[in-house]
Formats: sequence, structure tokens, C-alpha cells
Amino acid sequence: MTLGLSVVVPMFNEEEVVPLFVQRLRPELDALSHDGVSVTYEVVCVDDGSRDGTAELLFAAREEWPQLRLVRLLRNAGHQAALTAGLDSARAEYAVTIDADLQDPPEAIGQMYSMAVSDGLDVVYGVRSDRSSDTMVKRWTAHSYYRVMRRLSGPQLPDNAGDFRLVSRRVIHALSALPEHGRVYRLVIPWFGFPSGQVTYVRDRRAAGRTKYPLSRMVSLGLDSVTAFSAVPLRFATWAGMLGTGFALFAMGWALWGSFVGGTVPGWTSTVATLGLLAAVQLLCLGLLGEYVARIFVASQGRPTYLVGYDSLHHPHPALRHE
Ligand code: UDP
Ligand code: MG
Repeated sequence: MTLGLSVVVPMFNEEEVVPLFVQRLRPELDALSHDGVSVTYEVVCVDDGSRDGTAELLFAAREEWPQLRLVRLLRNAGHQAALTAGLDSARAEYAVTIDADLQDPPEAIGQMYSMAVSDGLDVVYGVRSDRSSDTMVKRWTAHSYYRVMRRLSGPQLPDNAGDFRLVSRRVIHALSALPEHGRVYRLVIPWFGFPSGQVTYVRDRRAAGRTKYPLSRMVSLGLDSVTAFSAVPLRFATWAGMLGTGFALFAMGWALWGSFVGGTVPGWTSTVATLGLLAAVQLLCLGLLGEYVARIFVASQGRPTYLVGYDSLHHPHPALRHE
């Protein structure tokens, strides 16, 4: 019998929320089967190399909930890689990805599923109806992110759609055929262009624990997003170079005229300003180039995005074993 729905949950050091999450998710999934319609499901929890009690709690939860499966990664691979691991191991016709911290309401899963089945959709996005629970900084960065990325990846990118979404088996196949490293799902999936729908929801505060997305991770998600979809930043160097050349020619003419005809030109300020600006622009261009080179480098290494570890709590780590 084929499974109806896989729920994929990436978890990194989420011991505070695991019990709450399981408690709220289970009744929702059990309620999918009603009025003689039976929807079989599985929950794929990806333990993304947690160093707290997350794994213990998941092992315990699995004892009581046979549909819960555990994929333990050897070490922390990051949110998007954990999603890859979960989707690779999902077996159902449809898969919903959801955060463990209850910011995405499990109550919306049923709506996503029935919408996909009844309307024949391959993707159903969870779209945040408002961001009042977010900080100012988060709201501002998110707004700019979606605006820039819509320009780069195409108009089909829905606003405020994070990683709470349903995808069909067809989408999962398309994803696994992408050799790309550092996939950003929220961009790649709309870019495919499968028929899609939206379910709006209010994004809650984190139920417990702390965010696993510090500013540094947000910056690298942003850089991954831009470099995956556009070579425009590379053009920036060309444009800056052309502009700079024009300006330099003008300044040279002015300086020559000054020194031959109009006496000496006072130079310290202009020299420092020009040198400083040039150095900054050059470093910026070099950095941008580096981002693309790094992408090529990572792709050419071809290392796996994640490695699955052991399905046992007390399995000794091979590197630590002494005979
Ligand atoms: N997560 C993960 N690996 C990481 C970082 C985060 O699996 O390296 C998971 C995390 O446990 C959560 C989801 O990704 O289920 C979203 O993370 P978080 O809630 O911290 O991000 P935020 O909502 O603050 O953007
Ligand atoms: Mg969160």
C-alpha cells in the first residue's frame, strides 16, 4: 500500500520543543482519516546532529508512535541539507516540510493535503499572513530578500513563503535530479514552475528554545540564494570598472590641467578618497568573484550533502572507539 503523506521535520538541538511538537502533530495527522477515507502517513524526523537530548526524546516518541521515523545525521549539516535528507527518505505520495518549533501550525497540514489532492496540485505553499511576531530586523531582511530574489529567480516566487510547504512525488523526483549543492528550497521549488496553490497561516512565536538561525546563517542563505540564481553580481565588477575608468580619465585631465596651467591642485583629500574607494570596490568585486568560485569548488568536490549516522543511541562513534 502506498503511503499518503510524509511529514518531514528537521531538528537541531530542539529538546525543549520535541514533546510539545509530537503532542500537537499527532492528533492532526490521525484526523486526516475520517468519514471512511483513510490517509496513511509517516513522520520523518531528521536529527541534524543535535548535541542535546533531541535524539533520546525522538527514540522515546517512536516507541509510542509507530509512524514516526528517525533519520539521524552524523553531524550538523544545516537546515536545507536536513530537509534534503528528510525528502530523500520520505516514501509517501506527498511530503510536507515543517519546522519543529511550532512556528508553522500542524493544523494547516490537512488543508494543504486536501487542496493538493482535490485540485491536483504539485506544490502548496504555506504563506505567512503577517509577520507581527518577528523582530524588526527579521521583517526588514525578509522583505528585501523576497524582493531581490523575485527579480533574480522569476515572478513565480510567492511572497513570505518559507519552508512550510507540501510537495508531490513529482517535485521530489525533480529535486533529487538536481545535482546542485547548497539548494535553497524556497527558491528552487517555485523556479520549477509546477502547478501550485497557497495556504495562509499566522506564524507563531517559537514554542520554546532559541532560533538556530543566527545572523551569520542568514547571510550565507542570502549569498547562496543570489549566487544560485544570478550572474548579475559578476557584472557589477564590469560596470564599476567602466564607471571608474571614465571618472579616472576625467580626474587625470583635471589634474594635468591643474599642474600645467593653473598651478598645483591640492591633492591629499582626493588621493585618500580615491584610493580608499578603489580598494573597497576591488575587494568587493574580488569577494563576489570568490562566492562564485566557492560554488564551483564545492560542486567539483562532489561531497555528499549529508551523511546518515546510526539508528541507535548508544552506538559508539567509530572515530572514538579504542580496541
Ligand atoms: N534546523 C536544522 N539544522 C540547523 C538549523 C536549524 O535542522 O542547522 C531546524 C530547526 O531545528 C527548526 C528549523 O530548522 O526545526 C528552523 O530553524 P529555526 O526555527 O531555528 O529558524 P527560524 O524559525 O528562527 O528562522
Ligand atoms: Mg523557527
